Amino acid sequence: MSAGVIPGPHPPKDVHSFLVPYDAECAALAVGVRTFNAATRHFFLLRGYTLFELGDIIAIEKSLNVKGHNSACPCRSCEIKGIRNKAGREKLYYVPLTWPDGQFWDPENLPLRSQERLDQALRKFDEISTVLDENAAAKAKDDLAKSHGMKGHPALRRVGCLAYPNSRPWDVMHLFFENVIPNLDRFSNRKYYTHLCELSDIIQGCLRFTSTVDQVNDLRQAIIAWIHKYEEYYYQHLEGRLRVCTLTVHGMVHVPDDILFCGPSWTTWTFFMERFCGVLQAGLRSKRFPWANLNNNVLHVAYLEQLNARYDLEAELSSVSKMQRAAALLPFIPEKIPSFGKLRIVQGNSIRTASACGEGATAERDMSFIRYEIESRPTTTAAWVARISYGRLECVLECRLPLAKELRHLAGKTRLLAVISPCLNTQGKDAALVRTSYRDIGDPIVTDLQAVTAVVGRVETRDRWYIVDRTGGLIRPEFVPEDEDVDNN
Ligand SMILES: [Zn+2]
Repeated sequence: MSAGVIPGPHPPKDVHSFLVPYDAECAALAVGVRTFNAATRHFFLLRGYTLFELGDIIAIEKSLNVKGHNSACPCRSCEIKGIRNKAGREKLYYVPLTWPDGQFWDPENLPLRSQERLDQALRKFDEISTVLDENAAAKAKDDLAKSHGMKGHPALRRVGCLAYPNSRPWDVMHLFFENVIPNLDRFSNRKYYTHLCELSDIIQGCLRFTSTVDQVNDLRQAIIAWIHKYEEYYYQHLEGRLRVCTLTVHGMVHVPDDILFCGPSWTTWTFFMERFCGVLQAGLRSKRFPWANLNNNVLHVAYLEQLNARYDLEAELSSVSKMQRAAALLPFIPEKIPSFGKLRIVQGNSIRTASACGEGATAERDMSFIRYEIESRPTTTAAWVARISYGRLECVLECRLPLAKELRHLAGKTRLLAVISPCLNTQGKDAALVRTSYRDIGDPIVTDLQAVTAVVGRVETRDRWYIVDRTGGLIRPEFVPEDEDVDNN
C-alpha cells in the first residue's frame, strides 16, 4: 500500500518534512489504536511498529540524515574515515581499507555506529543550538557533521523501534547490480574475470534462501578477501586511483551483519519498490500536470489494490493492467496496415480468410475456420498453458512496427496479426480428440498469426456446428505470400 509519493523532479532536501504524517501515525500505533475484533466482538488496542527502513543508498542516507557518500565520514553503518586525493586536488572522499600511506582499517573491527553514539552526537547538536549564536552554531554543527557524518535527527524519530543503523540494511540490488558490477573490468585479463566470478559466489551467498551463522561468517571472510583483491587490482594503493574505492564497495563489508540482523538479502532488497516506480512512470501521461497525474495514479493503484484484497480479483485486475500497457503502446501502431487474404501453412493447408472469401461465397469450400492456441494463465503466479480455441480467420494484418524503445524487443520488427472471430463456449476442448461444438461466434480478437495452427472443417447439425479437426496440433504455420494471392487493401 502506498502511503505517499514525494513528487520530483528534485529529491527532497529534508525528508522528515514529508514523513511527519507517517511518523505521527507510527507514534499513534506505538501507543495503540482502538480496534474492533470481529471474531471476539471486543475492542482491543492495535499496535504497529516499523521494522525496517528500505531503500537505495541515497534514500537511506537522506532518511538517516547522514552526510553520506563522498563525505569525510561517509558510511551509514560505521564511522570509517574517508580520504581524498590531495595531490590531485580532488574534493570527494573515498573509503579504501588500506590508505596510500599504509594506514589500515580492519574490516572485522570497524568502528560501527550505535544508538549510544548517535544519541551522544544528537545531544551535542542540540546543545550547540541552545548555547552559541547562530553563525557559530552553524560552524560548530558543520564540524560535528564532518567528524560524525551526521547532520541531525533521523527522519523517523518519534518511535524508538528502529535499531540504529541495523534496521536499515544495505540493499543488495543497488549495491551489487547497479553499482559494483557495472564498474568492474570483466574480460581484459583472466585475473579480473576470476575476481568477477568470486563476486558471483558472494551474491549467491547473500541470496541463499536460509543461512546459518557459520555460512554468514564464511560469507564475511569471502567479502573481505574479495575487497582486498579489488583494492590490489583496481586501486593498487595509489592516491591517483582512489576514486575506484567507492562507498558501494565498502558497503559490501556490512552485508553479513545485515543478514544476521534482518534476514537474507532477498527479504530486504528493493525490487518491489523499483517495480512500483516503474508502474508510476508507465502511468505518467500528462506533460502539463505531471504531479496531479502522479497523484491520481497512486490513488487509483490504491483503489485497485483494495478491490483486489476485498473481492479476490487478481485475475481480473491483471487484465486491467495489461489493457493499460496496451493503451500506452497504441501511439506506435502504424495508421495504415496492409491486410492479406490468403496464407499457406508449410506442409499444411491453405487458409483463405473470411475477407478473401467475400460475401455470399457459400458455394466455395470455406477455408477460413482455424484452430488457434493462445497461452494464458489464470493467475499471475500460475504456469502458462496453451488453450486450444477455434474461430473464423477474418483477415491477416501486416504490422510494421517503428523503431521505438517503448516497443522493446518488437521495435523495428514486422508482425503478422490474425483477426479471429472466436467460436464461443468450446471450453478449450481439442476437437481432434473429443467432440467439440459451438453455436455462436463472438466479437473478433487480434492475436499473433503464429497462434493459428491449422485449418478445420465444420458440420452443422441440430442447430450446432461441430468442428472437424484432423491435425495433431504439431504443425506450426509459416506465412508464405504468393504474388497472385496478395491482396493489398
Ligand atoms: Zn562502513
